[in-house]
Amino acid sequence: MIYSVINGVTLRMGRMLHMKDTIIKTLVYDKQVRLFLLDNTAMMNEIIHLNQGNHRVLNVALGKLISGVSLLTATIKGEQRISVTVSMSNPAYKIFADIDAHGNVRGYANESLMHGIDEKSASVQDLIGKNASIRMIKGSNMNQFTGITDMPYQTIDDDLSHYFKQSEQVETFIETNLALNNENTVLGSYAMYAQLLPGAPVHLLHDIREILDTNSSFFQKQTNMDIQETQNELRNYFSDIEIIGQSQVQFSCGCSKEMFYGLLLSLDREDLMEAVDDDRSMDTCCHICGRTYLFQPDEIKSIL
Ligand SMILES: [Zn+2]
Repeated sequence: MIYSVINGVTLRMGRMLHMKDTIIKTLVYDKQVRLFLLDNTAMMNEIIHLNQGNHRVLNVALGKLISGVSLLTATIKGEQRISVTVSMSNPAYKIFADIDAHGNVRGYANESLMHGIDEKSASVQDLIGKNASIRMIKGSNMNQFTGITDMPYQTIDDDLSHYFKQSEQVETFIETNLALNNENTVLGSYAMYAQLLPGAPVHLLHDIREILDTNSSFFQKQTNMDIQETQNELRNYFSDIEIIGQSQVQFSCGCSKEMFYGLLLSLDREDLMEAVDDDRSMDTCCHICGRTYLFQPDEIKSIL
């Protein structure tokens, strides 16, 4: 049993340490390949719930991008961040995912896409189209690298893998699995990331892909396994696997009331003055996380 003391209250926690929003980091094949596994089912449920009104295909595309990019939190350090923009073939349609090295993740679609997607987009492939692109900005404030590649596979997963090969010359394999029921509840959200370390032969990635394909029942549905069970199971597929650590991911928008003062300023000055005169407060809502910020009349007055 594990005991922990929070605010003076002792909680007794069971031995089960669930894979809840966890990345398991490993090395396989004689430390020639980094292999990371992610279960972000809880986080994905939170995000899909915030995007309930979205077209289902959009939520699947958004979920896949968020899962693929979430894995990258385990590849950066310190104050580094990664921001990814997918521009669909219709250049007005974009989805975004941002992460930092502390496991903070957010993802959203732009307004044009949320309101513009039509019933003709029957699949993620249709939504992406033939002329889409991925842009990735990686680094800290002082030192940034931007890469842009096309999306020849129209799947997001393989296009992310393609990005690393083209833009960073690193052989990488990313696969995401998102199961949504008809009520838009996430039944499971999992992802894998495999990257060759310098000097490793490319066939190792194909070997991993084959293992994932033949054992999809494990790799696509790790539901209800605790971390220890997952690690034991992994040893069945990769005999020399070395678990090098684990980290958490969590949905975090990063918005603040200060950011919404700018939005207020973009409103008609007359409307703001009217609110002050009528002693009315105004509220603004962040469309990424759903948080509402309330502005009192004296706060509105302060920016006029
Ligand atoms: Zn927000």
